[in-house]
Amino acid sequence: MAKVICVLYDDPVSGYPRTYPRADLPRLEHYPDGQKLPTPQKIDFTPGALLGCVSGELGLRKFLESSGHKLVVTADKDGPGCVFEKELPDADIVISQPFWPAYLTAERIAKAPNLKLAITAGIGSDHVDLQAAMNRGITVAEVTWCNSVSVSEHAVMQILALVRNYIPSYDWVIKKGWNIADCAARSYDLEGMNVGTVAAGRIGLAVLKRLKPFDVKLHYTDKHRLPENVEKELGVTYHSNVESLARSCDVISIHCPLHPETDHMFNDVLLSKMKRGAYIVNTARGKICDRDAIVRALESGQLAGYAGDVWFPQPPPKDHPWRTMPHHGMTPHVSGTSLSAQARYAAGVREILECWITKRPIRNEYLIVDGGKLAGVGAHSYTAGNVTKGSDEAALFKKK
Ligand code: NDP
Repeated sequence: MAKVICVLYDDPVSGYPRTYPRADLPRLEHYPDGQKLPTPQKIDFTPGALLGCVSGELGLRKFLESSGHKLVVTADKDGPGCVFEKELPDADIVISQPFWPAYLTAERIAKAPNLKLAITAGIGSDHVDLQAAMNRGITVAEVTWCNSVSVSEHAVMQILALVRNYIPSYDWVIKKGWNIADCAARSYDLEGMNVGTVAAGRIGLAVLKRLKPFDVKLHYTDKHRLPENVEKELGVTYHSNVESLARSCDVISIHCPLHPETDHMFNDVLLSKMKRGAYIVNTARGKICDRDAIVRALESGQLAGYAGDVWFPQPPPKDHPWRTMPHHGMTPHVSGTSLSAQARYAAGVREILECWITKRPIRNEYLIVDGGKLAGVGAHSYTAGNVTKGSDEAALFKKK
């Protein structure tokens, strides 16, 4: 029997939904590169239901309990004495979502001698100290592709929202105004701008493809270059380093994972190399940007706008400066947890659990760490090390 702890975000303040705006979800045949959608033997949820919150339980309870396993579901994940810390010492498996990450620091891993598997219900396993997981032989897996397109849609939406000054214009409507000049004074067309992505992996490439019809000049940087025919089709310019990308672009959208190489990549030095009045959208991870350097750049006008949905830590303290900095279009971390995405990652988590329980191999494309080293997607896109430092600050969300 395994003990599984599943850390999920709280239910809606108005209670678990009884109805949804739409009756069903579009049926996808496969992911854009042909990869198979999750293939669990069965699911016990209705696709389109809210699965990522505590009452949704990722649709796992019936499956786990009927096969004799114990499932603990909680949103209480931060600070000493939280349910997550209390339940961790005899846990075999931890499931967590990046939107409400259960930070698996080296200290917590040390207190969980039975822990063998950490599953990310989504993409991006930086909330796990991957170095500590490697040292302890813990397998880390995520549901590759499950919400990549979801995030790309959010990133394009936020690029347009910033450049066209959507949120302040919407605010004038709510304030019962008709202040055209106030709205227009910071509003531009995206057409003709130089727009670049940091990374052209699953999300970055999906963003580039979605931006092409806007008649912009596309750019990207990545550790590995895209195939020549893809570059040609998109008309995208490759930059061998992020500094060159920063100097060339009016808008940058960030899509690399957070790992030691990308931690605080956008700091004062890099921001000073960007064109004055550039925009950044970051739906990758908050810590890829230096929190205070972003605030300074917005206040000085070096950046015209910053948006995204990722923060550090999560949830951010109530006084996190990104809540109040000028010209931002931040959302909570929601881009990858649309109801459409939830159906895919809940099925993917079930697939991983079924494999684990029946001792079948987990798909290579889901692996981040296995056998004491980076594996699968992890070996391609991550570097060894730890980026969970400072995550204990998430406990301040409760206190303030
Ligand atoms: P992929 O693995 O498909 O792509 C990541 C890309 O980043 C790869 O092409 C990789 O390069 C590249 N990369 C890694 N390090 C660097 C670097 N130092 N400089 C430039 N490029 C780099 O992942 P996805 O596109 O699916 O997801 C990317 C990230 O987006 C996730 O790791 C996660 O942090 C975030 N995310 C956010 C979500 C949200 O809800 N906001 C949801 C899902 C993901 P290569 O492989 O060529 O070496």
